[in-house]
Amino acid sequence: MQPHTQQFPKLAAQALANPQVQAALAGLKTGFDQARQHAIGEITPEDWEHLRDRAREIKRHTLEHLDSYLALLAENVRRNGGSVHFAKDAQEATATVLEIAHRNGVKLVVKGKSMVSEEMALNRVLESAGVETVETDLGEYIIQLAGETPFHIVAPAIHKSKEEVAALFQRKLGALERADIPSLTRTARETLRQKFLQADMGISGVNFAVAETGTVCIVTNEGNGRMSTSLPRIHVAVMGMEKVVPALEDLGVFYRLLPRAATGQRATSYFTLVSGPRRAADEDGPEQFHLVILDNGRGRLLADPDLREALYCIRCAACLNICPVYRKVGGHAYGWVYPGPIGAVVTPVMVGLPKARDLPFASTLCGACRDVCPLKIDIPRMLLTLRHRVAEGPPAQRKASWYEGLGFRLWGRVMASEQAMARARRVALFVQRPFARGGHIRRLHLPPLSRWTRKRDLPALPERSFHEIWEKDLRTSPPVVPLSQRARGTGE
Ligand code: SF4
Repeated sequence: MQPHTQQFPKLAAQALANPQVQAALAGLKTGFDQARQHAIGEITPEDWEHLRDRAREIKRHTLEHLDSYLALLAENVRRNGGSVHFAKDAQEATATVLEIAHRNGVKLVVKGKSMVSEEMALNRVLESAGVETVETDLGEYIIQLAGETPFHIVAPAIHKSKEEVAALFQRKLGALERADIPSLTRTARETLRQKFLQADMGISGVNFAVAETGTVCIVTNEGNGRMSTSLPRIHVAVMGMEKVVPALEDLGVFYRLLPRAATGQRATSYFTLVSGPRRAADEDGPEQFHLVILDNGRGRLLADPDLREALYCIRCAACLNICPVYRKVGGHAYGWVYPGPIGAVVTPVMVGLPKARDLPFASTLCGACRDVCPLKIDIPRMLLTLRHRVAEGPPAQRKASWYEGLGFRLWGRVMASEQAMARARRVALFVQRPFARGGHIRRLHLPPLSRWTRKRDLPALPERSFHEIWEKDLRTSPPVVPLSQRARGTGE
């Protein structure tokens, strides 16, 4: 997928002006986040904290020995009769999938939900090579028919109303325009059922991959993951290399965290474990199983001690649902596959900081993302690290304009001198007089401050400074002698 990350300010402004997007986003807090809190409330805080700490420890350990665990995973997948393909970037991964499709004369692919396949722009590549590719997760299917990208990691079509979906189904599928959810679901199910039966290849994502057994684990609610992986004669699973966990018992930890944090469920409707292609005694299952393991910038995250923690993410989207910025601008504003707070960390590393320099600033740093994250990922710390890199980077990468730089240099000089500060205050008081009303400047037509006041009120400078109030009204003890005028002591 081509990043549009440089357009964040423009796309965010469009989302803010779109009432339907705002209505959909308003439901995130009452929907997903309340369900999350309720599901977590069912277990004791001690148990929840224990699970979070245990999951962090598993991730820390696995990433420290990632090469060994990936090698073990590959060895066991091959032992189970599957094939493993390592890909350094999205192009290599897509070429691998395309080659498997061509080699096997594949005409139709059904796909389960996979954010990694979005990174690869897999649908577009397969379609342009003449392979019909159909998303089978309902939200993803809607998005595919609409020609859009996912709006949310867990609920890709959350920004669409049921009326919009009904009109889309009528336009694209010739369905009756009925906007009740059971009818819409039935239409999608009837269409997709035929595709499942005709498909030659199923492509799925991977939530976790168990090194010791060579098993991939897929967590879904619609059953489409299970049908995509078992009905077609070829199953291709695509995963980011950080999805490996050492042992089967580790799944117990992550599976108690993921549904609760993502959708507020104790358990999802389906929990599918795939250990290779069908065996002689199996009733069904694919004849071939391929596992594509993708780097695509994850190696850079791994090598970066300040940002490595981002690889702990299990894509539950709890940080999106709580983030005050995501809840106003939505997923498309971020311009690439991963939106929200975690997207603002991983996207700059994966697509390059110069292309995504606005994203680390798309945060109030309130810390809510860290608090809700089941892995306790310190997203605000990493956002600050990236902001620092933007500020310290080459001029083309810096976010501040020349006048901001000049402004801050002047500000530094003024702040360093009491007389300069007093003079600057008098000038500012005079300049603000025509604009200040009731203690606030509501609109300033003076660039660059006009951008600030377009969406916010700027507090006006008070007529009396704290220094003056202190000197005239509050101070009871002898005047404080400025440090520079005090006699130098002996160092004792
Ligand atoms: S950073 Fe944490 S809260 Fe956000 S998606 Fe990843 S695991 Fe979930």
